[in-house]
Amino acid sequence: MSEPLRHTDLYRLPWTLPDNAISWLEPTSACNLYCDGCYRKNDPKAHKPLEVIRKELEMFGRLRKADGVSIAGGDPLTHPDVEKIVAMVAEMGSKPIINTNGLALTPEKLRALKKAGVYGFTFHIDSRQQRPHMKGKSETELNELRYRYASMLADEGGISCAFNATVYEDTLSSVPEVVAWGQKHIDIVHILVFIAFRAAPLHKGYDYLVGGRKIDMAPIAYAIDEERKISIMSTDIVDMIRTREPRFQPCAYLNGTERPDHFKWLLTMRLGNRDRIYGYVGPKFMEMAQSLHHLLRGTYLAYSTPNVLRRGRSMLLLSPLDRGLAATASSYLHGLRHHPGDLFRRLHLQSVMIIQPADFMPSGALSMCDGCPDITVHEGKLVWSCRLEELNDFGAMVTAAPRARADAAAP
Ligand code: SF4
Repeated sequence: MSEPLRHTDLYRLPWTLPDNAISWLEPTSACNLYCDGCYRKNDPKAHKPLEVIRKELEMFGRLRKADGVSIAGGDPLTHPDVEKIVAMVAEMGSKPIINTNGLALTPEKLRALKKAGVYGFTFHIDSRQQRPHMKGKSETELNELRYRYASMLADEGGISCAFNATVYEDTLSSVPEVVAWGQKHIDIVHILVFIAFRAAPLHKGYDYLVGGRKIDMAPIAYAIDEERKISIMSTDIVDMIRTREPRFQPCAYLNGTERPDHFKWLLTMRLGNRDRIYGYVGPKFMEMAQSLHHLLRGTYLAYSTPNVLRRGRSMLLLSPLDRGLAATASSYLHGLRHHPGDLFRRLHLQSVMIIQPADFMPSGALSMCDGCPDITVHEGKLVWSCRLEELNDFGAMVTAAPRARADAAAP
């Protein structure tokens, strides 16, 4: 068993409700795929008109600073005006990041999106999607598909490339394989994201309430009524990665609203090349990166260009200020004795983000991500995008209470 992580040893990312690294825009809830664990009801007619999208972006502008806007959904590539949406986000001064399953992405579409100003893509690829011709493929087998998208972006050039995958009880053990694959393509894959599966259990003795009245949670997309593991923790994923990469060391986190010591977003950044990882940045590096970006640009940092991420060697100059970089620099210098060719190769920086979404506390309270980056707008308010369906169906966020207590409280 590896050293347990202590939140007080890591840098707490400075992201808050009004001043964050990212905001979450949903131009549509239509999707061309089904993903297990998706938080959104698939509505093929749900494309928002451009005026509505502009108003939402203006509202973000009034209520929240952010470096990037995740253009999500549904799948945003199904929206007929996705290029105009990307251009709108860029004109308003944010980095447009498309969150997609990739199905509708062709080289021509990519070129048009690049022309419109797209900054990056996050591809959601995992084995519980109903992908045509991919059914039954394991996480490891899906690396081939991941590579196809990463290459498509690399051929176009200058675009940030991220992959995310939901982690289920039976796919947890394949995470190290995907992390190893990411290292093999560290020059063209910039971010890997692992999201622990979560759902609202209907069978666990909770009642769901809105305004003190019981409601039927069953139609909500993320409700389940069967035994499935909904408590995989970020630290379980770290432990699993460490079975293959024992030095794997996160540097920064966001805590839970109910638990300061839970890692809701847990960030690791590693430096290396296709053949080896030389080390991991430490908390001070991340603190410097976030503070400096805020000082110079007015926002906290979420995404960087491939051009910046391939300058790992210059980052080592900061090693006197960060223990992680100091250890990396030392391992790099020692490594050159065995691999002198590495002196002429680039040193790349790659992020691995682990997300532990809403957690049910025994009291029925939900522990959300404190400083949630995936906040979206709904009727003039900033709300958690992972719980938007509750607002759509009931007009308010649902609370949960263990059944006996809810009965006592019911009018
Ligand atoms: S609170 Fe929900 S929407 Fe926000 S980051 Fe966490 S999982 Fe995502």
